[in-house]
Amino acid sequence: MQRHNSKQIIEQANQLIPGGVNSPARAFGAVGGTAIVMARGEGATLIDVDGNRYIDYVLSWGPMILGHAHPAVVDALHKAIRDGTSFGTPTRNENRLAELLIDALPSVEMVRLVNSGTEATMSAIRLARGFTGRNRVIKFAGNYHGHVDSLLVAAGSAAATLSVPNSPGVTPGTAADTIILPYNNQSAVSETFDRFGGEIAAVIVEPVAGNMGCVVGTNDFLQTLRRETEKYGTVLIFDEVMSGFRVGYGGAQQRFGITPDLTTLGKVIGGGLPVGAYGGKSEMMRNVLPVGKVFQAGTLSGNPLATTAGIATLEVLRETQPHEHLERQTQRLAAGLLDVANKHDVPAHTACCGSMMTLFFNTQPVVDWDTAVTCDTKRFSRYFWSMVDAGVYMPCSQFEAFFLSTAHTDAMIDETIAAAERFFSGK
Ligand code: PMP
Repeated sequence: MQRHNSKQIIEQANQLIPGGVNSPARAFGAVGGTAIVMARGEGATLIDVDGNRYIDYVLSWGPMILGHAHPAVVDALHKAIRDGTSFGTPTRNENRLAELLIDALPSVEMVRLVNSGTEATMSAIRLARGFTGRNRVIKFAGNYHGHVDSLLVAAGSAAATLSVPNSPGVTPGTAADTIILPYNNQSAVSETFDRFGGEIAAVIVEPVAGNMGCVVGTNDFLQTLRRETEKYGTVLIFDEVMSGFRVGYGGAQQRFGITPDLTTLGKVIGGGLPVGAYGGKSEMMRNVLPVGKVFQAGTLSGNPLATTAGIATLEVLRETQPHEHLERQTQRLAAGLLDVANKHDVPAHTACCGSMMTLFFNTQPVVDWDTAVTCDTKRFSRYFWSMVDAGVYMPCSQFEAFFLSTAHTDAMIDETIAAAERFFSGK
């Protein structure tokens, strides 16, 4: 596949933008080579600047659950844009999106709209600390909650140790209140609560992790989080920026029947425009300014375009209820990939939840960060380029999830499995 224009644009971008990208996940650091510059999206397909077409399993890293340029979203945006793009005043749309979120999510009675997942988690942590008057926060190795300073800390410690920042610019003081624990490990959680219980403001968790590949939180693990946080008056935050409206219309909390105190959202709820949100019980949300004292603000928060795209997306999901179908398609893809890997003696495991999926090149199932890092990332890089050259665009890292949309067809899934088989068979 010829990608001359992509190469030229990235060469220029490298002089203008650090690493040529506005978010590091887009660079091909883990797989080598030059990032592909996309020009257009149509349904489940991306077309790059050289005219190559790809079946897209990245979907803007999750938001495009209806596929690219869905007519309901595009039409709604066309109408909205003529009325102006931002007023800095309340608008009717904000109520509509808030209502949709509150209706869908068992934990959410009130919600605040922001502009990204990072803003949502940052604000939820601040609210939890303001509400409890405590400082410490538990997060799990391999979970990602955006680039909030206090959550950008080294993963890997198996015990409840005070952590060390893993990005220059995050001061040790900021990170010192963050405790890193292994994912899916109930005893580490209970031991930490026994020791620090009364000092812990919040536990933040991806109930279905998507940022070390797809790793599903076990029922025992998530129940332990609910039990211990309740016992110690700690705020349980489900970070559903990725899983919200994706592993089911009501997110992981509805799927697993576990109600957190606060929920953070992003991705799907913006239909491809920049949106985030955090919400929970009214009692807690009323601590946010201007009713309460916890500061949080945003010039463009809840702006007419972002809310329009979000409302259109959620309304289509509500009307068409595609989640069961999406899940079947995802399982079919996962089973097909695993099958061809097994057939050609490639050690592999799959994990899926809803329309999130990862094929891990590993001899053991991946349940946490320690098992994730034992994957064969060299094989993954070769697989990635072989798939891309076959017209399948997928996450450029073993530690990211595939996403499916309602626009993915059976034929596309078959084509993807066939491309994988050609790679596994060494052809
Ligand atoms: N939380 C989770 C679970 C995420 O997956 C992400 C983004 N991948 C974020 C938070 C941060 O969201 P954003 O990139 O919109 O800031």
